[in-house]
Amino acid sequence: MTLAANIRIGLGHDTHRLVPGGPLRLGGVEIPFDRHLDGHSDADVLLHAITDALLGAVGAGDIGELFPNTAEENRGRDSTDFIVEANNVVTQRGFEIVNLDCIVFAEQPKLSGVKLRIASHIARLLNLSGDRVNVKAKTGEGLGTIGTMQVIEAQAIVLLAKRELIS
Ligand code: MG
Repeated sequence: MTLAANIRIGLGHDTHRLVPGGPLRLGGVEIPFDRHLDGHSDADVLLHAITDALLGAVGAGDIGELFPNTAEENRGRDSTDFIVEANNVVTQRGFEIVNLDCIVFAEQPKLSGVKLRIASHIARLLNLSGDRVNVKAKTGEGLGTIGTMQVIEAQAIVLLAKRELIS
């Protein structure tokens, strides 16, 4: 088999508005904060970016196609469902995650104290060892929609390999 048939890369990005009232949910972890993210589902911006990275890597479209934000069944839905389902698609197509790297762009709250907990929670959701998932946090330096706390954004990039290549 060619290398191209054995490895894949996927990229995801998402943005959600911050609105009053906590707690904040990021990567499936509840973080004490006086604002939360607004959206049709639970608006977990990090899980949405990861879901899109996984789907993109196997050419399976995007989160909006699988889980439309017009569908009543997705209202308030736990985004854990999305990432688990995207991982199922990856598995069904014979691939496994090599590693996943993420960035959360948030002016506040400071995520340095929770990013390891978020990474290990995501690793558990994806049945991965903790060293395969990395979560980084950046602020907006007080500028733009991130820096003025109008939004939180997230990016994710994932590398997949055919299952038989990973030992
Ligand atoms: Mg989203």
